[in-house]
Amino acid sequence: ANLGFPRMGSDRELKWALESAWRSGSHDELRSTAAELRARHWQLQQDRGIERIPVGDFSLYDHMLDAALAVGAVPSRFGGEPFDPESDDDADWTRYFVMARGGSLDGADRAPLEMTKWFDTNYHQLVPELDPDQSFQGRPARLLAHLAEARTLGVPGRVVLVGPLTFLARSKRTDGGDPVELIERLVPAYVDLVRAVHAAGCEAFQFDEPVLVTDVADKVTAAFGGVYSALREAAGSAEITVASYFGDLGPSTELAVNLPIDVLHLDLVRGADQLDHVLRLRPEGLALSLGVVDGRNLWRSDLDPIIDRIAAVVEQLGPDAVQIAPSCSLLHLPTDLSREDALDPELRSWLAFATERLDELRVVAAAVDGRSDEVRAELETSRAAAASRRGSTRVHRPEVAARVAAITPEMARRSSPFATRAARQAEALHLPPLPTTTIGSFPQTREIRDLRRKFRRGEIDAATYDAGLRDATEACVRSQEDLGLDVLVHGEFERTDMVEYFGDQLEGFFTTANGWVQSYGSRCVKPPVLFGDVVRDTPMTVEWTKFAQNLTDLPMKGMLTGPVTILEWSFVRDDQDWATSARQLALVLRDEVTDLIEAGIPIIQIDEPALREGLPLRQADQAEFLGWATEAFRLAAGSAPDEIQVHTHMCYGDFGDIIDAIIDLDVDVISMEASRSQMELLDDFTAREYPNEIGPGIWDIHSPRVPSDAELDDLLTRAIEVFGADRLWVNPDCGLKTRGWPETTASLTGLVAAARRARTTVTS
Ligand code: GLN
Ligand code: ZN
Repeated sequence: ANLGFPRMGSDRELKWALESAWRSGSHDELRSTAAELRARHWQLQQDRGIERIPVGDFSLYDHMLDAALAVGAVPSRFGGEPFDPESDDDADWTRYFVMARGGSLDGADRAPLEMTKWFDTNYHQLVPELDPDQSFQGRPARLLAHLAEARTLGVPGRVVLVGPLTFLARSKRTDGGDPVELIERLVPAYVDLVRAVHAAGCEAFQFDEPVLVTDVADKVTAAFGGVYSALREAAGSAEITVASYFGDLGPSTELAVNLPIDVLHLDLVRGADQLDHVLRLRPEGLALSLGVVDGRNLWRSDLDPIIDRIAAVVEQLGPDAVQIAPSCSLLHLPTDLSREDALDPELRSWLAFATERLDELRVVAAAVDGRSDEVRAELETSRAAAASRRGSTRVHRPEVAARVAAITPEMARRSSPFATRAARQAEALHLPPLPTTTIGSFPQTREIRDLRRKFRRGEIDAATYDAGLRDATEACVRSQEDLGLDVLVHGEFERTDMVEYFGDQLEGFFTTANGWVQSYGSRCVKPPVLFGDVVRDTPMTVEWTKFAQNLTDLPMKGMLTGPVTILEWSFVRDDQDWATSARQLALVLRDEVTDLIEAGIPIIQIDEPALREGLPLRQADQAEFLGWATEAFRLAAGSAPDEIQVHTHMCYGDFGDIIDAIIDLDVDVISMEASRSQMELLDDFTAREYPNEIGPGIWDIHSPRVPSDAELDDLLTRAIEVFGADRLWVNPDCGLKTRGWPETTASLTGLVAAARRARTTVTS
């Protein structure tokens, strides 16, 4: 069985088709590209002998948005009337994309649905907005159309839906109430949906309920049985699978195995230890779908142990009660390895993208089925790859292990407490009250991107490229001086991505040519791959930072990406725990900090925007994560002497559950996103009496709007009211990479003026 396939296409055809449709306003080509991609991907799954092929997993933007529309949940600000996406009516396509991306609708400008990370992945889902008296309505048109397409190709198809409880748990209510309370209203819409799809001949349904691996609240637990009884009845003779993934069922095991369903899917990669428990509790008649190949990471599976494991279950339950599947949807993997010819053959032999994962399933199925002969060559290749990776000297470097083993607790601690450091830094830096700064990047303009493209294509040489970047950096430093900012940055023009930049320079990482993974909508990321022990051959940021510092007498911040964020936004090793990988990264960042200080840089900022999203799904696992995550950060920063000011930056507003960990980082200054929440998140910091300095963003950089003086004053006044002026910084929400210069200059002028106005009131 497969649970879901990446949507983009191996050449990111969907991305190009989407972006061209958005530019032109015409959806015809997009419609045909999408249909071609679906057909190609179904075919590819069928060729590999997959028997449960997902239908409905393909989305033009996001599966949570599709789920909302399938139950008719259209917020009134998008017209309120239920509609069918992908219909013949162009207006429906427009409405769909306005819900996803914002834009003009019925003569007014609409903000899009909010986005949030899909569980602990880097995929962003849209957040359905539900009214407390929301009405729902089953809208099967899109699913029926996809099903019909699949049928034409001879693919029976298993229709995939976000399960009703996961759907509600990942939605929000407009009145702030608990969306799960709407379950009674929602179920009839799901029932109608399932009935219609079953009536069209669909004989298999997959309901994705990853909420089962989280700390499910009692309300959700209580609802599960009733919901699935209703769906059971609606589905008639069809097979019902409930898919849990991203972790183990833990305390939800008993609930899950006793649902009135046919198949329960288990993630045996993230929840490797749950199988025995499930087998003990499993009632007669419940089939298990064993998610044995990794849907979240790109390492080729070691097939022998997987085959043994499955063979044992098959022996116990019989072949009809066992399905073999990826751990979760393959959405989180790049499509296929065929474009990676440029990659070193040994490294390439260690990898499996989505397509190769399905090959693995085919081999496992054959071997378990007693047809090992047919797949002898594949099994040999798998063994050889596993052996070469295990023994490779490119992976294991004794000197790195020795350095990690020699880490002492003192290394992860600054030498003096904050108060002492703050006094020394005040002497060294001479900053005014309410100092102004930015988060790091400045606009990556068309010129910068053109320059980079020409360099990549070999149209200009390295010297010309460098000269272009130097000009941009110098211009950026000059405009910060002109704007009157107090602490400057070099602008990060040499970086396309804050993680890739470090991945490219560190030993132990490699970059793929085409390893794109959907982040949201048409946006894809190409995460670097951490495959071996981490070594820094030369300084990574010192040249650029020094160049910028030498242009000005004002203090320059050295900008680094923190160890946790580098891990979260990469494909990481599966042969070593995250904590060890984090320590290795921390040590090379520590060396970089030392070199920056040596080069005369007075302030170091270590960004950890991904710290919050790495938080494990279950509370019981969170302390351990936060323990090694904060230790790694402090290890990176710990060598800075008292007079060197250490900053960090975090995105997203939701800090309540990690506030103690943030305190534990013991940074001198933290900046974070705050303007959209009207400084509400400062309450988390004041409630815990956050002891150090803080810069809540007063300019929402996610929109091109220039904030008015009144708005800036208002946010700053609010920040001063709740936090006091003594330890407050004034800065935007986040980096300015995606902004243009005109709004950047205008907004920063306003920001500096607001800080100056506030200074006169707080010092008088
Ligand atoms: N220093 C980075 C920048 O300004 C931080 C970006 C982020 O937090 N995502 O671009
Ligand atoms: Zn940010």
